[in-house]
Amino acid sequence: EMPACSFKPSKHEGPDLNSVLSTRKNNLNPALFTFYKEPVYVHQGYMQYLWDTNNKRYLDLFAGIVTVSVGHCHPAVVAAAEKQMKKLWHTTNIYLHPKIHEYAAQLVAKFPGNLKVVYFTNSGSEANDLAVLMARINGYHGASPYLMGVTALSTWRYNNPTGFGFQQAMNPDPYRGPWGGKHCRDSPAQPGRQCDCPQGQCKACDMYVDQLEDVLRYSMPKGRVGAFIAEAIQGVGGAVQLPDGYLKKAYEKIRANGGVCIADEVQTGFGRLGSHYWGFESQGVMPDIVTMAKGIGNGFPMGAVVTTPEIAATMGKALHFNTFGGNPVASAVGQAVLEVIDKENIQGLCADVGTYFMKELEKLRNEFEVVGDVRGKGLMIGVELVKDKASRTPLPAEEVASIWEDTKNMGVLIGKGGLFGNCFRIKPPMCITLADVDFSIAVMRAAFRKHANKK
Ligand code: PMP
Repeated sequence: EMPACSFKPSKHEGPDLNSVLSTRKNNLNPALFTFYKEPVYVHQGYMQYLWDTNNKRYLDLFAGIVTVSVGHCHPAVVAAAEKQMKKLWHTTNIYLHPKIHEYAAQLVAKFPGNLKVVYFTNSGSEANDLAVLMARINGYHGASPYLMGVTALSTWRYNNPTGFGFQQAMNPDPYRGPWGGKHCRDSPAQPGRQCDCPQGQCKACDMYVDQLEDVLRYSMPKGRVGAFIAEAIQGVGGAVQLPDGYLKKAYEKIRANGGVCIADEVQTGFGRLGSHYWGFESQGVMPDIVTMAKGIGNGFPMGAVVTTPEIAATMGKALHFNTFGGNPVASAVGQAVLEVIDKENIQGLCADVGTYFMKELEKLRNEFEVVGDVRGKGLMIGVELVKDKASRTPLPAEEVASIWEDTKNMGVLIGKGGLFGNCFRIKPPMCITLADVDFSIAVMRAAFRKHANKK
């Protein structure tokens, strides 16, 4: 049973699902209809729940692709937005407004070290674009960032295999990588589980660092590297975690080659990992530039780049702003999100609920051949589905889709991703409860059992 919820959604008004579906192909980006076999047509949300147009309730484990950080239509965030909307919507950056000052101060206060200057954007792509621009201006290169070249996931790179001046280092993957699985994940002390090398001395970690060094040596101008960008835990990649110590060593190599280090916190930031407010802190490193979006606005379209006064000073030459970045309503929303995260101990909740979720998912891994790997931190969790545990062959797409469809029909919306599209991505609004976890586990267990019985 899904936990009780006292919130009563309003009745859906407007076209019914059938009439929308009959016109959808003509009006909308066709990519929007490649997901569930039977599309979910959602009209209302409250905290961790969504309602479709028939007012069937779903538990949302994907949070609008990790954007809805503190809960759908969180009352405190709604109130802040409403208050600001009645005062002032937009000015352009020619005139400053009080909210942008208040919010900028509150946001940079969340950062350690010398990360003190913020630039507001409207999305994560824009934030990363700006970060690369900063690195290039700060370094030796021209200014023509083309972000698709930065994304390592082949499924998202379309016809631009290399980008301009971008190179990929291998993302350490303890389950599928050429080194991690052999050296660490299957260590005799903990068969199939986490690396047990002494802290900071992970053998696989060193091999990935060597591979990064090869990329620098053979493919980049010596001493003239612009920047290095990485997530502490891969988001779209399926919650693949970097081994302890990797970023520290990688940052050293990059800095030795004249580059700056960018932390992409679009998915990992704002307490989601439980252990730390920012993903980079979990790796014990200090980036030069941090990019964020998604959870920053609880679903409101906004993003930001935070950097040091030194890098910001080099940016002064490139008068950089955009029309909507730092918009008054966005700033009010961002402030409210920061306040809710603190007031409701969201980071602590991610740690506790995340640990429990992982423990319960581990049980499913022990019960079902199809659950190859469970990984992640806090409420950023990946479940990799395989044909069988021994071969680790990714579960064929139709079988993944069928399990996924079943979980949806039973009332749980899960994310999907990973290099082979065979990972369940569990990144719910950070207000879910232990009872929600129990419900999710029961639904996944039923779906996995149904799948096993078909064999
Ligand atoms: N960085 C990461 C880690 C992301 O997951 C995404 C979006 N999936 C982006 C950047 C791009 O963000 P946006 O979609 O807001 O442009």
